[in-house]
Amino acid sequence: MKQKFATMKAAARANPNSDHATRDQHLSKMADLITENSDAIIAAICEDFGHRSPIETQFGETLNALADIKHTRKKLAQWMRPEKRSVGMHFLPARNEVRYQPKGVVGVISPWNYPFSMAINPTIGALAAGNRVMIKPSELTPKLSALLAILIAQYFEADHVTVITGGVDVAQQFSALPFDHLVFTGSTKVGQLVMQAAANNLTPVTLELGGKSPAILDSEYPMKLAVEKIVSGKLFNAGQTCISPDYALVPAEREADFVATVTATARRFYPSIFDNPDFTAIISEAHFSRINGLIEDAQAKGATITEIYPEEVGKPANTRKMLPKIITNTSDDMKVMQEEIFGPLLPVVPYNGVDEAIDYVMDRPHPLAFYGFSNNSTFVEKLLHKPLAGGVSINDTLLHIVQNDLPFGGVGTSGIGCYHGFDGFKTFSHAKAVFHQSKINARSAMFPPYGKTMDRLLGMLR
Ligand code: NAD
Repeated sequence: MKQKFATMKAAARANPNSDHATRDQHLSKMADLITENSDAIIAAICEDFGHRSPIETQFGETLNALADIKHTRKKLAQWMRPEKRSVGMHFLPARNEVRYQPKGVVGVISPWNYPFSMAINPTIGALAAGNRVMIKPSELTPKLSALLAILIAQYFEADHVTVITGGVDVAQQFSALPFDHLVFTGSTKVGQLVMQAAANNLTPVTLELGGKSPAILDSEYPMKLAVEKIVSGKLFNAGQTCISPDYALVPAEREADFVATVTATARRFYPSIFDNPDFTAIISEAHFSRINGLIEDAQAKGATITEIYPEEVGKPANTRKMLPKIITNTSDDMKVMQEEIFGPLLPVVPYNGVDEAIDYVMDRPHPLAFYGFSNNSTFVEKLLHKPLAGGVSINDTLLHIVQNDLPFGGVGTSGIGCYHGFDGFKTFSHAKAVFHQSKINARSAMFPPYGKTMDRLLGMLR
């Protein structure tokens, strides 16, 4: 790994910058890699999960990455142009500009839940900015990680993009490399370790983390419309999505209706679970029992568990697919209300008045995503004004992440920094400030020995 890194650093030193045509060629190669191997990518992820809906893999991984490449290729020439900046009156007629320059070698550590796009999307931004990229994919998706290593080696020079596979020990060594930028997508706990390792090298980090993302329904928004978006957001990838709506804040008087509508809607979207090709399995036995543990803990502490598919309970499943459930009568001491769920469970928290709902969110760590369902602009403005959250969709779930012209990232425990589109280009570039002195200038007035001219100048500046 160290040898590969040294080779990349040497290549970056020899060619520290690249023109638009070269970067465009790299992006085009990445698009070829995806389109020419889409079936293999879908199959590998399906095998890693035990079952992953092929539609979800296309929507959440391959097509999403292709859309990002398309947008980036369309805009890259414009992003690469030096940016003109204003000049203070006293410095006229000098000129100011910002030049975006590649940082060098970017490290990417990715998680298992979207094992392709979480490795490739940061790579797209880093390549657009003219960098070289080393990727460390998750050990929990060994088929996809191995395929990624083969494909990247086929489509890219080894000193340009490379994949290092391995477990946590490899990940630790990887995060200790003196990258010029390190992007980590994963849990908040591991994010802290990665930032500590990066600090030893003063490597700048982008941390794309997780947390509990709430959905808030107002007292008048049509129940069916809100629930359709919440259920589809929750059950996409069986809830194993960083921006999945984790729990729902619902006006107390609408709670019973909400539970009934979630049940009916889930059953309409997925008439069955175990034999349904649209429904994705849980990634591993360990995660399966972790989510079961959340249910048992909540039940032991007095929660009500509503089975959405009672007819499938106890059926021999022979699969890691988990039956979706609604959890009511929750309390703060339950693990399901403390940890990111990352599974098909939907806790419902009743509230009285929007301020109570906002306080509930603000009393907890800043979420990665926040969803509001309301046609009332005062309600929406209240949601947008006070709580900090990485990103927001109003009257929908998940879709802010696929907006190419919006930054994506968390805040506080849900992340540091952002990427996607121009914001990604800026993250992976150094914004070099350049002052161009003009031939005509008063610079000599500032030279020592300081005398009356300098006094007059200071007087003007005071
Ligand atoms: P994880 O933190 O367990 O692992 C992520 C990656 O970190 C893996 O590649 C792993 O090998 C590596 N790693 C593990 N220990 C390490 C260490 N000590 N030092 C360096 N690297 C180490 O996360 P996960 O379980 O794979 O993913 C789930 C989490 O990711 C959830 O919290 C989810 O919300 C979050 N996530 C966030 C986003 C986002 O864009 N914000 C996207 C997807 C997932």
